[in-house]
Amino acid sequence: MPTIQGGCLCGAVRYRCDAAPLMTAICNCKNCQRQTGTSFSILVAVPKGTLVMERAQPDTYRDMGESGLPVLRRFCSKCGSPIFSEVAAVPAMDFIKAGTLDDTSWLEPQVNIWCDSAQKWVHMSDAIPRVPRNPPPA
Ligand SMILES: [Zn+2]
Ligand SMILES: [Zn+2]
Repeated sequence: MPTIQGGCLCGAVRYRCDAAPLMTAICNCKNCQRQTGTSFSILVAVPKGTLVMERAQPDTYRDMGESGLPVLRRFCSKCGSPIFSEVAAVPAMDFIKAGTLDDTSWLEPQVNIWCDSAQKWVHMSDAIPRVPRNPPPA
């Protein structure tokens, strides 16, 4: 697997991570749909502290998770690209929005989450689990 690196649409925000991803997921929650303007987020979870911003720091929208705890949605303040999220309920990980990766050739989502709010036309693979809302705690 290549080093995880990527950035926003305008290039102001660039990141890298030398750690191996802990999991990859497709999130069909309504808030990801709104933030991305599309049908789902593709998430690559990496160990907290391993994701390094190399240029501008992203801006933050403080969202609320179903847990009642904050979800900090980090995005480029120039072009609006969502970059990653910090989920207070899952403090050991950062969740990169995988559409911002330079190289997605290795990417293979392992689970579909928030399937209860998935858009009707989205075809989900039968090869990976479907979870109605948040996955159960690991
Ligand atoms: Zn940008
Ligand atoms: Zn989501």
